Parts: sequence; C-alpha cells; structure tokens
Amino acid sequence: MNVTILGLGPMGQALAAALLDAKHHTTVWNRTAAKAKPLLARGALAAADPGAAFSAADLALINVVDHAAVDAILTAAGTAVAGTVIVGLTSDTPARARRTAALVADLGGHYLDGAIMTPTTTIGTPDASLLFAGPREHYDAGVEVFSALGTPTWLGAGYDRAAAYDMALLDLFWTSVSGFLHAIGIAKAHGIGVAELLPHASGIVDILTPIFTAIGERVETGEHGQADAPVSSVASSLHHLIATSRDVGADAGALEAFARIVEKAVADGHGAQEISVLAP
Ligand code: NDP
Repeated sequence: MNVTILGLGPMGQALAAALLDAKHHTTVWNRTAAKAKPLLARGALAAADPGAAFSAADLALINVVDHAAVDAILTAAGTAVAGTVIVGLTSDTPARARRTAALVADLGGHYLDGAIMTPTTTIGTPDASLLFAGPREHYDAGVEVFSALGTPTWLGAGYDRAAAYDMALLDLFWTSVSGFLHAIGIAKAHGIGVAELLPHASGIVDILTPIFTAIGERVETGEHGQADAPVSSVASSLHHLIATSRDVGADAGALEAFARIVEKAVADGHGAQEISVLAP
C-alpha cells in the first residue's frame, strides 16, 4: 500500500520512521521541506506539494499542529484528495474533526479521524495508542498500516469520537501535569527537593486507578452516599492547600476554581456525599 505522511514535526517524523521500518512504500511532505531529509535518506519519497502527496497515496496520514492547518493543506490540494482515504492524526476539538470530515467529503475523499495518545518514543511499538473514528471500512483499509505505528482502536462511526476521547484524556493528563508542577512549587518552597517528592508523588499516581474506578461506579449508579471522603472534607482540604499556596506566593487559581465547585455542592446540601456527586 502507498502511504503518504503530511506533517513532519516530532510526531510526524516518528510516524514516518515507523512506516519505513515496516517497509511501507512511504511518501512524505512537510511545509518546511528540509525536515524530510533524514527520511529521504532512509528511502522515503518526497512530494513537492500537498496535491502530489495525496495523488501518490492509497492512504494519507496528516499530522500537523491543528485542524486549521489540516484544512489549509486539504484546501490547497483540492480535488487531488478525491478517492484517497485521508486519516487525520492531528489533535484538536471534536467540532473541528467533524468540519474536516465535511471538507474531505466535499473534495471527494474518504475521511477517518484519529488521535495519538502516547509520546513519540512509543511510536512503532505496541505501547503506542492510536484512536480512530469514522466509517469502519476506512479503518479496515488502513489497519495494517496503523498496526505498524502502534496499537490501534476503532471507537465508532461518528467522526468526532476519537477527538472526544482525546480531549477527555488530555483534560486528565494536563490537569495532572499542572498539579504536579504546582506540587513541586509547594515542596521546593519548604526545602523539599523533586527527587525527595517523586516517590511519594508516584504513590499518589498509584492510588488514582482504584479511586477512578470507585468514582466511575458511583457516577454510573448515581449512588453518592456512604462517603469515605465526603465533599465537606474535600472543601476543608482545598482550603488548606489554597492557604499554603498563597503563603508561598504560588498561583492558586486552579485550586480556587475547583474549590468554588466543591463549595457550591456543600451549599446545595451535598456536603456529606462522596466527591463523585460533583461529576456533571
Ligand atoms: P507540532 O504540533 O508542533 O506540529 C508541527 C507540524 O505542524 C510541522 O510539520 C509543521 O510544519 C506543521 N504545521 C504547522 N502549521 C502548519 C500550517 N499552517 N500548514 C502546514 N503545516 C503546518 O508537532 P508534533 O509533531 O509534536 O505534533 C503533531 C500532532 O501530533 C499534534 O496534533 C500533537 O498534538 C499530536 N501529538 C504529538 C505528540 C508528541 O509527543 N509530540 C503526542 C501525541 C499527539 P513546519 O515543519 O513547516 O513548521
């Protein structure tokens, strides 16, 4: 199968390298052409422009910064897109995934949306998680190629499903990273080094999976009583944390936003219930 990859940032480079490792006939295009050089040295072919890139492909993977760039590339290619299965592997909103799907349909192509959930270092190994959404036949057409990149999962026919998973999971990821960075600030202000904090931080990460499972079960059943960690206690913990942040001059904005939600739940009479009651 002739595979084209458009976009050779760090992730696009990793995707193209994995395609070459798997001996796929690979064509590459990037806005800044010089970034293709290492891949051309490994046997990839260069496309002069997006139109040539799509024309060369049975399957075209697009991995650029956002869907505005994706749509600009598709528009520049115009009817060269016709008949090709286009796979959007760019992270962006569910609404923008739907818009790109409509644009590809207008140009006569076939669209599958995707999201990559793991770092570049995982690409080409089973540890890479790639999510896909759109018509099943387009997923089936590409699954051999996707399997060379990592572990693919098809999430359904709706074009926005992969982006919706992507956004939900990135919400969890970035709020966690933000929390860790903030925690480092509090620790350092009290003379605790990152290396000293890290084993204990890992302990917190380890308890999250059973906590998420328990919260998930309560959200599914709507049972928020018999609380081990009542909302009122969470409110109190957040107040200590906000006070500590202010004492060391750290921005407490994210914690204050969460505290407002928790305080409203207490005011609404949910203080004795489990934290799961806060889920929308
Ligand atoms: P970037 O998100 O920085 O994207 C860089 C690529 O986008 C380059 O190829 C760049 O071209 C291209 N680009 C930017 N603007 C335009 C434009 N207007 N027209 C054409 N091309 C454009 O780097 P990554 O490779 O890291 O990420 C690509 C995608 O993969 C993103 O959606 C990201 O969220 C996702 N992803 C990345 C991960 C990672 O670990 N890096 C992990 C999981 C997902 P040029 O070289 O000319 O500037």
